[in-house]
Amino acid sequence: MPFSTLGLGPALANAVREHAYAEPSEIQSAAIPAILAGHDVLASAQTGSGKTAAFCLPILEALQNRPRSAPRVVQALILVPTRELAVQVTETLRSLAEHLAHPVKLATLFGGVSINPQMMHLRGGADIVIATPGRLLDLIEHNALQISQVATLVLDEADRLLELGFAEELSRILSLLPGKRQNLFFSATVPPQVEALANGMLRDPLRIEI
Ligand code: AMP
Repeated sequence: MPFSTLGLGPALANAVREHAYAEPSEIQSAAIPAILAGHDVLASAQTGSGKTAAFCLPILEALQNRPRSAPRVVQALILVPTRELAVQVTETLRSLAEHLAHPVKLATLFGGVSINPQMMHLRGGADIVIATPGRLLDLIEHNALQISQVATLVLDEADRLLELGFAEELSRILSLLPGKRQNLFFSATVPPQVEALANGMLRDPLRIEI
C-alpha cells in the first residue's frame, strides 16, 4: 500500500518522500488512517516498527489544517518515559516538519536538567509538547504552560511509563486535560496495568498488534 492512500495531505506526503520512506510500515498503514479519522488507538508495537512516524504524521497533518490566525496553544501532548525517547521523538517530528508551510513549534521537556531554559522556551507557546510526566507537571505548576486545549494525547512506551512508576503523575496530568480528546497508546507490550489504563481512557479504540 503506498503512502498516498493513507489520507495525508500533499505537504506531509512530500515530507515522507524526502525521507525516502518507500512504503508505510505495517503500523503506519493501520494507524495513520484511523488517527486522521479521529479514532483512539491502542497499538502494541516495538521500537523499529515505525511507530513514531505513525503518530507524528497525523499530528502534523492536523496542525497544517488549522487556521493560520489561530492562537498558539498546545494541541498535542506526547508523554514518554525517558529523556532519550523525548529527544528521539522530537527529532522525528522536527525532520518531518522541516519543509512544512505552516511552521510548527515543538517543546521538549524532561527532568534532570535546569527548568529555566524550558520555561523560557515555553514563553512563546508551543504546538506540540514532548515530555516526561514529572517535569511536565513541574512546568504546569510554574504556570509555564497549560494543557487544557490538547486535542491529541499520545502515551509512547506506555508499558515503560507504568514500569517506571509514573501512574500517579499520569492521573494528575489526565485530570488537567480536556475530556474530549483523542488518545493514542503505543506500547511494546500490553500487560494488565496498561490494559487497565487503556480501558479507563480510550473510547472504542482501534487495536493494532504488530
Ligand atoms: P521507530 O519504530 O519509530 O523507532 O522507527 C524506526 C526507524 O524506522 C526510524 O529510524 C525511522 O526513520 C524509520 N522509518 C519509519 N518509518 C519508515 C518507513 N515507512 N520506511 C522506512 N523507514 C522508516
